[in-house]
Amino acid sequence: MDVRSMVEGYRNELVEKLGRLVSINSVEGTPAPDAPFGEGPRKALQTALAMLEKDGFRTVNLDNYAGYAEMGHGAQLIGIVGHLDVVPARKEDGWDTDPFTMVEKDGVLYGRGVSDDKGAIVASMIAMKVIRDMGIDVNKRVRLIMGTNEETGSKCLAHYVEKEGSVDYGFTPDGDFPGVHGEKGMISAVYRSRKTGIRAIEGGTARNVVCPKCTVSVDRCSFSRKKLEDWFTNNNLEYDIEEGENTVTITVVGVAAHASLPELGTNAISWLMCGLKEAGYQDPFVDFYCTHFGTETDGKSVGAKCSDQYGGLTLNNGVISMKDGVIEGSIDIRFPVTLHSKQIVKMMKEHMEDDGGEIEILSTTEPLFFDPGSPLVKSLLEAYQEVTFDTKTQPMVIGGGTYAKGIDNTIAFGCAFPGKDYRIHNANEFVEIDELLLQAEIYVAAILKLLSL
Ligand SMILES: [Zn+2]
Repeated sequence: MDVRSMVEGYRNELVEKLGRLVSINSVEGTPAPDAPFGEGPRKALQTALAMLEKDGFRTVNLDNYAGYAEMGHGAQLIGIVGHLDVVPARKEDGWDTDPFTMVEKDGVLYGRGVSDDKGAIVASMIAMKVIRDMGIDVNKRVRLIMGTNEETGSKCLAHYVEKEGSVDYGFTPDGDFPGVHGEKGMISAVYRSRKTGIRAIEGGTARNVVCPKCTVSVDRCSFSRKKLEDWFTNNNLEYDIEEGENTVTITVVGVAAHASLPELGTNAISWLMCGLKEAGYQDPFVDFYCTHFGTETDGKSVGAKCSDQYGGLTLNNGVISMKDGVIEGSIDIRFPVTLHSKQIVKMMKEHMEDDGGEIEILSTTEPLFFDPGSPLVKSLLEAYQEVTFDTKTQPMVIGGGTYAKGIDNTIAFGCAFPGKDYRIHNANEFVEIDELLLQAEIYVAAILKLLSL
């Protein structure tokens, strides 16, 4: 029998298993003894391990941080690394169905985690079974590693690596096909005001999201209302201006986007600050903001603009707030995969402060980079091409981070097919059953390629 038919034979089982995992709300909860990320993630892990054990695989639970199921023999280890935790979902956030009850409609499954990443895990489970059904000599150990804290810090994977070490070849089905050979480095920083006349400011939802809404209060008659309104109108921005007794409160609505693709959003903080300056508002902090960030997303004014053959640096101003008269805001920088954070920090050196404000770097994460010609990247690409016949789409570089940064010799591979948006982290997350089966088929091909390395 060919692999496609073998995978197809598991169609009902795949849907049934995924439904069971989706029904467990595995959003990070309150830690408890023996449940480091709360009850939900623990239950999801125990349930998945029980499924794999029942299917006859050797399973190990690493203190409810992570667990794995293994087949094969030999010294070398192939890892498939997925996660069972999910991001929050509430019906009132726009879901048409209960996010924790998987629903099928016309061959499409809906529910939190059906794609990210429970769907990918179940597709990997089926791939393991198909490899076993083939009756071949599995000359390396093949391990399905499942973490429970990917969305909120990946402490699960750190625990896994501490206990079990890395793998010889690995992929994490938590990104894109036909593979992610580079993940940009990250710099996390904050800016603070030194001198400002702003009375209050509040904006943003998270540091890794382009600020979708910002509200500021300033003294009356401190700027030209006409010029400010012209600025908002000319730039197609939704806004509101409310005159109080002594202050004016201005709200601007932007467009949210992920911090790794800030050019896709409209930053409410940036357009508000630049609008105030344009309207004649005199303030050291507003000047600081406009001369260091403006409305750019490439870090130019802060000295950080750079790129390599795989893409450029991005900078996002996510959240802003004020406490005890000091404004503080977040900076999320994603820098090119062939550079080191030290180079970026050095470039920013001359731009870290002035009378109105200062920048402080909080943490840096180096990029992940595999040469597109390396055996791992090439093997996975070939597996994808042999199954899909798509020879056009090439391995890519992304600004986001995956498990691949936390375990050696691993890249993201799947589970998203090119050009598809499964609404992960959003309402009505979905996946087609046929795509899950195709994923499983690709993972089978990938494991076979890696076994032959
Ligand atoms: Zn994920």
